[in-house]
Amino acid sequence: MRTELIAPDAAGIARAAALLRAGALVAFPTETVYGLGANALDPSAVARIYAAKGRPSDNPLIVHVAAPEEISRWAVADERAWRLVERFWPGPLTLVLPSRGQVGVGTVALRMPSEPIARHLLALSERPVSAPSANRSGRPSPTTAEAVLEEMAGRIEAVLAGPAAQVGIESTVLDLAGPVPLILRPGDVDRRQIETALAAEVGSEAGSRRSPGTRYRHYAPDVPVHLYAGSDAWLRREIAAALSADPEGVYIGLDGTAPAGARGLLARDLGELQRELYRALRQAEAGGAQVIAAWPPASPQAAGVRDRLWRAAGGQVTKEPEGSGEAS
Ligand code: AMP
Ligand code: MG
Repeated sequence: MRTELIAPDAAGIARAAALLRAGALVAFPTETVYGLGANALDPSAVARIYAAKGRPSDNPLIVHVAAPEEISRWAVADERAWRLVERFWPGPLTLVLPSRGQVGVGTVALRMPSEPIARHLLALSERPVSAPSANRSGRPSPTTAEAVLEEMAGRIEAVLAGPAAQVGIESTVLDLAGPVPLILRPGDVDRRQIETALAAEVGSEAGSRRSPGTRYRHYAPDVPVHLYAGSDAWLRREIAAALSADPEGVYIGLDGTAPAGARGLLARDLGELQRELYRALRQAEAGGAQVIAAWPPASPQAAGVRDRLWRAAGGQVTKEPEGSGEAS
């Protein structure tokens, strides 16, 4: 199969919508990462998403909608859901709700993206669109059309080639199917923002049975990612040592915590770190790095970046030895 690159102008978006309606797989830009879309109401098209990604079939997909009103067609939304929709939609917050009708697995995960090209596409497709990230399962998500082609060329009908994703990591997934709201996957909308909007406490179950997808090793590049836990001074030394052993070694973190002379992603702030994270993982692969040494910020807002790096590292964290002391 030849994968068609479609320009994101009015004619291109109309063509992409027609392809979706006809059962094709079309990757498209969203503000989080590029999605791999299929008509959610066409089981064989949805099955082809799993085949193209090599995704385990027990990992359900997020359904993308063009407008908040569509929620009621596919799910049962309570007052909490409407309050969050009011505050965060369109945007990087996915709501897991009790499903209505054929979509979903007793519950359905719904999101309305804010990226204008995605909104235009969803409106024209006149269908809910199932869309996971447009990468092969377990790989870093694509944040550019070029990265989608690296992952999916020859496997899908088309890529709607828009701008780079502005958020850079996948949406926050919030489970509202039970009495206590649970964050199943941290993202750009953080726990405190949700708690403020709901005036209620929010739990976290990332990696649990409730969010099947989060069980798997994920977002991992071919280059090993090293993560560290300990004092700042110890981290600084460990990361400098790891990088000095590899001339192509890549640092990922804030500029302020980078060792002198480090190369890679030296982000000015958390927004840039999040936006450039997956691109940095891909560039490390392309540049022949043997090691990626990462230092994510410890702030509550950085939970999404920490989660993705932890998964990229296969859950392995090097801990500072007991009593290694930071007297000096
Ligand atoms: P992705 O499609 O790769 O962005 O991942 C979607 C995430 O949403 C995965 O972690 C899924 O496990 C989660 N998800 C999707 N639908 C549901 C659902 N009905 N219940 C719980 N989690 C879901
Ligand atoms: Mg994904």
